[in-house]
This record gives sequence, structure tokens and C-alpha cells, in this order.
Amino acid sequence: MSVYNIIPKPNKYICGDSTYEISPKTKVLCSEEFVKAGKIICDYLKTKPEEDEGVIRFTKVDGMKSEAYVLKIANDGVYISASDYAGAFYAAITLKTILMQAKKQDGKAILETLIIEDAPDVEYRSFMLDSCRHFFEPETVKELLENMAMLKLNKFHWHLSDDQAYRIESKIYPVLNEVGSKRFSRHLKGYGLDYDNVEYFHYYTQQEIKDIVSYARELNIEVIPEIDLPGHTTAIISSVPELSCTGEKIEIACHNGVLNAILCAGNEAVYEFIDSLFSEVCPLFESKYFHIGGDEAFTGYKVWDKCDKCSSKKSELGIKNSKELQIYFMNRLTQTLKKYGKTPIAWDDCATDELDFSVVTQLWQASSVAAVRGQAKKRDVIISPVTYFYFDWKFSKTPLKKTYNFNLAKIGIVGDKYRVKGFEGLVWTEFIDGSDALEFSVFPRINALAEVAWTKLENRNYKDFHRRLDWYKTYMRKKNINYSRVEKDYSDFKRHVSYHLGFDGREFAKSQKIKESETD
Ligand SMILES: [Zn+2]
Repeated sequence: MSVYNIIPKPNKYICGDSTYEISPKTKVLCSEEFVKAGKIICDYLKTKPEEDEGVIRFTKVDGMKSEAYVLKIANDGVYISASDYAGAFYAAITLKTILMQAKKQDGKAILETLIIEDAPDVEYRSFMLDSCRHFFEPETVKELLENMAMLKLNKFHWHLSDDQAYRIESKIYPVLNEVGSKRFSRHLKGYGLDYDNVEYFHYYTQQEIKDIVSYARELNIEVIPEIDLPGHTTAIISSVPELSCTGEKIEIACHNGVLNAILCAGNEAVYEFIDSLFSEVCPLFESKYFHIGGDEAFTGYKVWDKCDKCSSKKSELGIKNSKELQIYFMNRLTQTLKKYGKTPIAWDDCATDELDFSVVTQLWQASSVAAVRGQAKKRDVIISPVTYFYFDWKFSKTPLKKTYNFNLAKIGIVGDKYRVKGFEGLVWTEFIDGSDALEFSVFPRINALAEVAWTKLENRNYKDFHRRLDWYKTYMRKKNINYSRVEKDYSDFKRHVSYHLGFDGREFAKSQKIKESETD
């Protein structure tokens, strides 16, 4: 009797001692709300149902938690129950994974009987893509969403504005695209890399964004946009220079690093601009969350310190320093977003009691762990520490096992008094220029992230995960997903940076030559 290889591992799995046969003739019957979940199985089986050829039944029941499901393979049928679409959808994903692995005989799949009772450990299971440093076509984004859904991830954080690009079509400020979405080099200079002088002009049209949001909805994924403010705004300021403290014309950034571009926090016109930008961007996304960045603005504090408007604002509010001014700025944005029905998320840089408590804090920096731990008793937090969940980092820095073995105790969060919403894996794309390099960085570490977020700590075990991962590797090869064949100890010694260099194809081209057996 074998156990099917499922990632993330179901929280309760009971093996039976019998079998049940499924074929394209098997009927798939669904409660009205679950028809789309049932269609996943129908499409996979290419069903042409006939009488007395078995049944798969999706039933809506009351009283189960959101996203929870029960999947029972009995000797007289397959029975799925859930209280919401998300639960039925995840049952279908689990059943499809089982069908792919099942023994096949005479055109039938022989399923072993079992009962799976499953629900996620946390409600926020997220992955972030940076579409600014490099642009990814809508088709690539959709493929990523499909792969996320198979791992039961349910949030897609989409980084859409930074120093190197503004990527959302703007009808009210077309200059944000004419200037802010265009740079003279596809690749960015810095850390040993150089310009390629190829014009790079990309943004997502509003229609493409709506299309991706609705595609994600079918996969039970919420799309959460990020417009990084008030720092990381070179693209916005290069488009509309009067938003900065000096009003000077600047060029969009074509290089890497932390820059000092910052919006003026003392100019009311800046808040009006942001309000009207939010009024355009908010309706494109259905999620209640909206990420407003807030990271690394300190490099612009010197600009604020020299600005008359920022100084007057500080005196008017009795504010002592630029850090407090940034918190005031973030709180103003929070009030603006409330008008559009959105809850802000911000990076941990402003994790203090002065920040409005409706703002969700996202942990990223090791130096912020203590502050975020304190804040987690007072506000919702999302956990995405650099050294575990930044998948642009090399496997030598962040091996698969390290990502897998993350748990909240490692950052001193133990017990239920903390408001941890969930976890996020991220990929920054300074060095990642296409789907091959993206997949190399993300897979299979995203499989580990998915299990950290879904499976309770007491049910997790790296050796067991790694054994189950073998089937996913076969699946990824069939789907041409360029997952990393390296899982640890690999670095390109010619480059002295911490990140992947999928950029020129070198690291992943080399890694392909390493035999799978050498990496285990
Ligand atoms: Zn200013």
C-alpha cells in the first residue's frame, strides 16, 4: 500500500486497504458552486460519462473552515466535501495529483482507498514577483500562477513600481508609461554587470491586469499590487519631476542598488497625485490588500532634510526627524487607501507603534526581527525573512533544506498571541531576465515554502518532503519547468554577489550538467 506524493503534505492522511477504478467514463457530479472545481478533473480525464462506470462527487457542506476539504476514495466512489470553492478547488488539485501518480491499467486509473482531511496551517500563502527590474510577459505570469496553485499558494504579490520601471498602464498619467516604463537598457548595471543598450519598454495594460486577476481568481489566488513609496520611486519621479523635493529632472534608473529618489512628504500635491493614482489602480485588483512598500526610504532622508516643504511639514506636525515624517507619510497613504476599501501592507522598515495599526507589516530584514515580533502582538504580520525566502539568492546561501526548515520559533515567535497571517517567498529580478532564470531560482524552493505555509510543523519532515519531491521533479521535467538541479552549496565563484546569475544563462546552463544524484 503506497502513499501518494503530495506537496504540501496533507495534514491528515489515512490509508485504506482497497482500490477504486477511475476512467474517462466515470461521472463527475458537483454541487452548483463547485462546477469549476469539478471541471479540473473532467478536463484531466477528458470525461465522456456512462452509466455504472463510477462516480466522483463534489458536495457542498456547511461548517468547514475556508479552504478545508475532505477527500475520500472509497471502494464505491470518490467523495469530496468542502464549504467553499477554495476547499473544493484544493480537493480537485489533490485528486488530480493522485490521478497523475496512480497505477494505470486498461485505460483506467487504479486508486488506492484513503481519507484525506486537510486544511492550511496559515491563511496567507504568498509569492512575490518583481516585474520592474525585468519584465515578465503575461503568459509567464499565468504559468507561475498555475504552478503556485498546484502547491496551494493563494496570494500573488506583484511588485509593479520601482526605480527601474513603472509597469501599470496609466490612462490619467500616460507619462508614467511614456517615460516611466521605458529605459535604454534591458539589463541593469552593477555588481559586475553592464548595460546592453537595448531599449526596454514594457508595461501591463489595464486589460492584461484584469485578465491576470480573473485568471488568478479561478486558481484561488488573490493578486496584490505593490507601488513602492516614498522611496524606490525613480521611475515615477523621472516621469513627474515635480513630485520630488527639488523638482529636478532625473533619468529612470538603469542600474542596481539602493537609490535616493524620494517623493516630497511636505508637498500636498504629492498626496493628491497618489490619491488619483490609487483611484486608477485600486479598481484593477480585487484583493482587499494593497502593498505600499515603504522600504529603504532612509537613503532619501538627506533629501528631505534639505527640503523647505518637508521642514515646514515637520514643524507643523511637531515631528523631530525624517523617520517620523515617513511614518506620517505612510499613515496618510493608509487613510487614502481606506477610501478605496483597501488594507495596506508595508515592509518592516516602519514597524513601530506610531504606524497605523491597520497596516500589515511584512518582515524581511534580520535587523527587524525583534521589532516585528513586538508588533505581531498588535497588528497582522507576514513573514518573509531574506535568508530563508528570497529565492533570487543562490542555493549556496539559501539551500532548499534551509527554506524547508523555517519555522516561527527561529524568529522567537512561539504561542498564539501573535497575529501571523502567513508566509511569503520572493524573487527580485535584477539578475533574472526570463522564464528560464525565473524557474531556476524559484523551483523547487517554492515547493518547500508551500509546505511551510500549509502543513503543520508537527507533520513536517525534510527527508520525507525530499522523497515526495522526486515525483514533482518528474512532473516539472515533463512540463519543461527549468527547476534548479542544485539544492545547496552551489555558487558561481567568478561573481562576487549573493544572487543568482541566470542573467546570461551561465549558472543554470552549468547546473544542468550536474547529475541529479550528486545533489541529494
Ligand atoms: Zn520635500
